[in-house]
Amino acid sequence: MLDLSAFVFVVVAAGRGVRAGGGLPKQYRKLAHKPVLTWTLEAIVRAMPGAPIQVVIHPDDRQLYDECLATALLQDARILPPAFGGASRQDSVRAGLEQAHQLCANAKHVLIHDAARCFLSSELTLKLASQLSDLKACIPGLALVDTVKRVDAAGVATRTVPREELRSVQTPQAFDLDLIVSAHRAAAAAGVADLTDDASVAQWAGHVVHVVEGDPRNIKLTTPEDFAMAEQRLLSGLTDVRVGQGFDVHAFADGDHVWLGGLRVPHSRALDGHSDADVALHALTDAVLGAIGDGDIGLHFPPSDPQWRGAASDRFLKEAIRLVLARGGAVAHLDLTIICEAPKVGPQRDAIRARIAEIAGLPVDRVSVKATTTEKLGFTGRREGIAAMATATVRLPYA
Ligand code: MG
Repeated sequence: MLDLSAFVFVVVAAGRGVRAGGGLPKQYRKLAHKPVLTWTLEAIVRAMPGAPIQVVIHPDDRQLYDECLATALLQDARILPPAFGGASRQDSVRAGLEQAHQLCANAKHVLIHDAARCFLSSELTLKLASQLSDLKACIPGLALVDTVKRVDAAGVATRTVPREELRSVQTPQAFDLDLIVSAHRAAAAAGVADLTDDASVAQWAGHVVHVVEGDPRNIKLTTPEDFAMAEQRLLSGLTDVRVGQGFDVHAFADGDHVWLGGLRVPHSRALDGHSDADVALHALTDAVLGAIGDGDIGLHFPPSDPQWRGAASDRFLKEAIRLVLARGGAVAHLDLTIICEAPKVGPQRDAIRARIAEIAGLPVDRVSVKATTTEKLGFTGRREGIAAMATATVRLPYA
């Protein structure tokens, strides 16, 4: 078993590359409604849950970076405060390594990864990490399948290069932490600043770098075509479509507001319950859990547990969504119906919809909020409480 506490990830996200289009550095460009960096960080958390992650960003990108962390899977991840990058990739990595080295006293190993490789698999990550029990530097490389030519400035092929010894190398690149920190310091001190990957830094410092088989899916997003293909791939893998439903009721009690969909709605009554009694978020949480067949809200947050007394229910929905993301899935759609005579939901509908979208990390057009009365019939008709029903559509990788 790997001791994950001995590892730290450094993710280089300080580049200004706008070649991919969208007017933003590519790591912040959206791919299937989430920034590339978010996809990359989620992949790391799935591969090595609990391992600290040190991201290196450009100082101008602080707000874009913070937005990348607003996803359920990253809520409880060990994401260190960002380090700020330098003029070159090499400077940026060094800044990240120095900060990680300082903040993670127990870390012995580091995996250095480019933010633009969001298709990082758990298999490749763990393969590289496990090499570090014997080796001090190990990187993934792919044999070249195409014939390789040297071409002169006039565009004329001058020579065919034997490709047997060639590898195109990827990230993450895995190192003994002390070794790579010293190598980076030495290179910087010597004024060597143009090394394009960390294996080159280790080699420059005289260390042996081993190469293991990389993953052809682990591409670095660079061009607009890469983005189009990546989006297709992210969605086309999620073919296991599930629908879950949820239902909840809370009775009225004395008070002056109710919580509905994470929004405080003024009312002449409150809702009674162990948590904040947000009937809408409870129904949505059960719908999401239902879609992945993972019990219900009471199982994950037992009312007998005092820590949930008065708890804000956005926490429950976020946890259900985190469980979907942890399986490599995505929530496609949430649909909610609130059933009551009062308060009137209509005037609050847009605000509730926006709040649920925010909690769930979804675009607002993937959230629907509806309301109905029961024509004064039954307990909701008698104004004894509020009921809510919800469905969640979830896409999972076909397994
Ligand atoms: Mg409830």
